[in-house]
Amino acid sequence: MLYDFAIEIAQSIVKNGLTLSTAGTVVFLILKQRRMKARLKRFIPWMFQDDSEVKPFVHNQMIIMKNQEIIMKGLGLEPCVIILNEKRPESVSSLNRYYLSSWAITTYAQLANKYTIRRYLKMAKKRIVIDAGHGAQDPGAIGPTGKREKDFNLTMAIKLDALLQANPNLQVSLTRSTDVFLELRQRVKIANDQPADLFISIHANSSTSSTANGTETYFSRSTSAPLAGVIQRHMQAATGFKDRGARYGSFQVIRDTKMDAVLLEVGFISNPAEEQKLFDNDFQDRVALAVAKGICEYLGVPFETEKPAAPAPYPEMTVTVHTAAGSTYTGYNIKGITWVPSRPIGELLGGRIGYTKSKVTINGEPVETQNINGVGYVTARDLTKQLGARIFWDKAEPTRVEIYPQ
Ligand SMILES: [Zn+2]
Repeated sequence: MLYDFAIEIAQSIVKNGLTLSTAGTVVFLILKQRRMKARLKRFIPWMFQDDSEVKPFVHNQMIIMKNQEIIMKGLGLEPCVIILNEKRPESVSSLNRYYLSSWAITTYAQLANKYTIRRYLKMAKKRIVIDAGHGAQDPGAIGPTGKREKDFNLTMAIKLDALLQANPNLQVSLTRSTDVFLELRQRVKIANDQPADLFISIHANSSTSSTANGTETYFSRSTSAPLAGVIQRHMQAATGFKDRGARYGSFQVIRDTKMDAVLLEVGFISNPAEEQKLFDNDFQDRVALAVAKGICEYLGVPFETEKPAAPAPYPEMTVTVHTAAGSTYTGYNIKGITWVPSRPIGELLGGRIGYTKSKVTINGEPVETQNINGVGYVTARDLTKQLGARIFWDKAEPTRVEIYPQ
């Protein structure tokens, strides 16, 4: 490696003379040797950036090029490739100037690049794998009334998935969504293959003593301890069970997975009181919600599960059309103006109702339109005016509107 560089530098000196950039390269290579490396790393960490730090590597390369292009364009320069191929400087002094500016721009682009990648990684969806412990022929622990841990685990996993699924910042998957058997290493593989950012294994605890009780969260690698702490805090508050804390436990699924991974022991299925709670629907919902919120808190993403609230329903108006085939319709009072469904009423009054450029047309004339649940509403005033009908608002009952044909 070093030998190759030496040859390259020697060649460069022979060809171009000792330029500033070759001298710079020599100094950098010397400094980059092991002893200096640690010291250098403190000052120019981006030069020692580990590939694994930047997951989407191809994307990374694209960002480097893009940033470099943006910076050069900002400085009124053509992108590097073009300079190299078409505008190669001829004198040594201009070569020095070129290398210096090129080096500065590349360095600047790399710094900008790191910032961009950080932002990109933050923006990227976080992948979560939820693992329902046990399954099929492996029931897990069995409660005093015969309830099986595998069923509790699966129900909780599905509930948690449902809460997180709607979150645009997250991508959630389950190791199992039915009563099937999975080896521990298969569960690990599912998470590592993604690779996931977070792994949550759901279990219920068991003891030979029927009085053992409480909630606990396990981590196996110390890097997962903070996650365990956050989840335990949320989950324990929701269960109301004894706080057994976030603790170390060498379980394969949280030991061999590569991302932050925890194993939840929500409560003791062997404890009659806790068994009953563990299979209570409201309890499960509450705990799933707490764990979901804990996950979001840990990942630093907003907890979003509810769909955006539907627009507030407008006050309804009863619209009666007094024709032979007349009928009553529901209109809406929007800021003091009565809006009525255009087609049924318009046609009852002998009008021709159409639709163009998101506006209802009455006898070919576009009028102000409000789309309410996919139906075109027009103001009662416009409709009756266009069709020469008469309209009355009932003073005694302000929610009633009467429409009479001409
Ligand atoms: Zn278990």
